[in-house]
Amino acid sequence: MEKRDEKKGEKMSLLLESRSQNEAFARVVVGAFMARLDPTLEEVEDVKTAVSEAVTNCIIHGYHNRPGEISIEASIEGRTLTVKIEDHGVGIEDIEQAREPLFTTRADSGRSGMGFCFMEAFMDQVDVESELWKGTTVTMKKELKEQRRNGVG
Ligand code: ATP
Ligand code: MG
Repeated sequence: MEKRDEKKGEKMSLLLESRSQNEAFARVVVGAFMARLDPTLEEVEDVKTAVSEAVTNCIIHGYHNRPGEISIEASIEGRTLTVKIEDHGVGIEDIEQAREPLFTTRADSGRSGMGFCFMEAFMDQVDVESELWKGTTVTMKKELKEQRRNGVG
C-alpha cells in the first residue's frame, strides 16, 4: 500500500450554493480540515472568522442574495493553510478601494465595510482577484504556530 507523504500536503474542495446557511457550514468544514494541524483555538477562530467574511461577501455582494455557486478550496503545506473562496458573481470594480476600512457599497443594508480588514487582521496574507461580471476570488494564507505537543503520538 502506498505510504502517505506528509510533505506533499493535503487539500479539500467544496462547492456550495449561495445561501446564508452555508456560511456556517463553510466555516465548520474549514475548521475541521485545519484541525489535523493541531492548531490553537485562537487560530481556528481566526480562520473561521475570515472564511465567514469571505463567504458572506460572495452571498450578499457577489450574488445579491440570488442563487449562485461558491467554491471553497483549502490546502495545507507544511504548517501553512491556504483557503481560496471564489464566486462567479458581479465582481469588484475597484479592488483597492473595496479593501479600504469602512468602504462598503451596501451601507443601506447595515454593512460596515470591515470584512476585508478582518480577513487581513486574522490571516497572514489576503489576495483578491476580481473581474466585473465574471466573479471574485479571495485567497488567504495563514502560517500556524509550531505544534505544541512534541514527540510521537
Ligand atoms: P461588512 O463586511 O463589514 O459587513 P462589507 O461587506 O461592505 O461590510 P467588505 O467585506 O470589506 O465590507 O467589502 C467591501 C466591499 O467590497 C463591499 O461593500 C462590496 O462592494 C465589495 N465586495 C466584497 N466582496 C465582494 C464579492 N465577492 N463580490 C462583489 N463585491 C464584493
Ligand atoms: Mg463583507
